[in-house]
Amino acid sequence: MIPRLYVTVDLKPGTVFAAGERATHYLKNVMRRAAGDPVILFNGRDGEFAATVANVTKRAVEIEIGTLRRPQAGVPDIWLCFAPLKKDAVDFLVEKATELGVACFQPVFTQHTSATRLNRDRLEANAIEAAEQTERLTLPEIREPLSLADLLQGWDPSRHLILCAEAGPALPIGEALSKLKLDVRQTNAWAMLCGPEGGFSRSELDLLSNLPFVTPVGLGPRILRADTAALAALAVFQSILGDGAQRPPAPLPPIGQSPD
Ligand code: SAH
Repeated sequence: MIPRLYVTVDLKPGTVFAAGERATHYLKNVMRRAAGDPVILFNGRDGEFAATVANVTKRAVEIEIGTLRRPQAGVPDIWLCFAPLKKDAVDFLVEKATELGVACFQPVFTQHTSATRLNRDRLEANAIEAAEQTERLTLPEIREPLSLADLLQGWDPSRHLILCAEAGPALPIGEALSKLKLDVRQTNAWAMLCGPEGGFSRSELDLLSNLPFVTPVGLGPRILRADTAALAALAVFQSILGDGAQRPPAPLPPIGQSPD
């Protein structure tokens, strides 16, 4: 496997840079790479580059940047607004939603949210690892948590909010998103909102459902755990309104062979 790494440096062909602590540890101690071994790099701005380990010293791995492999491309403009969950569930959610191509995570405190804190550094580390694994060229943004009231107060109404509603009137998600796709006023800015383990309160669901930029959707007759609900909804979103029709990039050819 060729290691694929997120780095923060500018990616300019022919230049050599010393990898940071995380990448150095991964290449040296985990993957045991040596000079001459291939690496793939992305930084969220310049696209994806083939690269080579130039030197392994005691302190850092030096990497020589090779040629552009893929030009920069984003993900569909879909935010995931989610109520902070217990540590393991939120780690799982951020990892999997990053794989599913979420552009931005917006934590939201609702009435029944039991988690009170969120470790953004840890979420970011999870997001970086998932982006590296999944051929993404961007990292998702991770925003500061907001209360539901503050989120709605500052909401840009041109961003359409898909509400995973476990109660009250709601179209099945597939039908609702297919309708939104046909809407001539269709926006390209979207968000998904999922409740906490305790669910939304009746008044939250009523408030949200009456907003002009909100579409309540149902995910079937079973009550899903909050992380399952968000991931299921995102998969349906990508298939109907997102980039579900695209294919993954071709793998790099084995070392020594040129791409055809
Ligand atoms: N404790 C609540 C359920 C919460 S499920 C209860 O018993 O009613 C957590 C969140 O997942 C919900 O707030 C909702 O956003 C989403 N969700 C779970 N199942 C769903 C379904 N069948 N349809 C739509 N949303 C669902």
